Amino acid sequence: MEKINQEDIGALYVVATPIGNLEDITLRAINILKEVDLIAAEDTRHTLKLLNHLNISKTLISYHRHNENIKTDILIKELKQGKNIALVSDAGTPGICDPGEEVIKKCIEEDIKVISIPGPCALINALICSGLDTKEFVFIGFLPLNKKNRKEKLKEIENITKTIILYEAPHKLEKTLKDLKEIIGNRKIVLARELTKIHEEYIREDINSLMEKAKAIKGEIVLIIEGAEKKEESDLLELSLEEHYEYYKQKGLNKKEIIKQIAKDRNVNKNEIYQKFL
Ligand code: SAM
Repeated sequence: MEKINQEDIGALYVVATPIGNLEDITLRAINILKEVDLIAAEDTRHTLKLLNHLNISKTLISYHRHNENIKTDILIKELKQGKNIALVSDAGTPGICDPGEEVIKKCIEEDIKVISIPGPCALINALICSGLDTKEFVFIGFLPLNKKNRKEKLKEIENITKTIILYEAPHKLEKTLKDLKEIIGNRKIVLARELTKIHEEYIREDINSLMEKAKAIKGEIVLIIEGAEKKEESDLLELSLEEHYEYYKQKGLNKKEIIKQIAKDRNVNKNEIYQKFL
């Protein structure tokens, strides 16, 4: 069995826990939860249920979104005093739409070891059985609720040519599908529901037909959406200069690279394009 960190400074173990089925926890994760000095949990009552199921009794400290700042400092202090800490969230992998990012960044800044203990993660499990392209994908998480930010994010999604993954709450599904349809158009979509639980289900549809069923869909859901069609070079020439620019921006190119690429596509001097974007 793996020996837990024995150094003077403790280590932070980022431990993935089940997303429904309590059997989805690795032997290594159980061992770490048994061996650490403290467990930092998103919701201590929730984690207690898991620990009881595993017959583990351990000191729990709450580490949730609303106290991340304060609790990060406390955890860093404990780690520096030599305590080994496991970080868990309510379900799945900490830091993925769950608290964790802050304490992990701080540990790295302070030269404290961060060790990932892999396990369930809803986005990965949903993607692999979706039947959509798994070679390249973009995880968005939850769409912003603020109207302007939401629209911006949807516009960004519109041009992504890789598979897109979203988290959503069931009561917001109808609105989200409507917004998606409006901005990205009708596309193939897979709704992965209640993963690892009794009612696990994959609904493979397009946005239009999923909209008709949305009202009745309950439980935890992940949406996996087919990426935008790749544009051929000849299509690019039909775009306005701004759209052409945006197309490459979405592909992750920087300003200099975009200008060079546009000039190449349009067979013009790059200074000419550069002047237009000044
Ligand atoms: N950290 C988690 C992970 O690793 O996937 C995600 C936490 S996030 C707060 C919760 C969201 O994850 C849910 O709203 C849902 O979109 C997705 N999710 C979590 N468990 C799920 C499950 N069993 N089936 C489908 N989606 C799930």
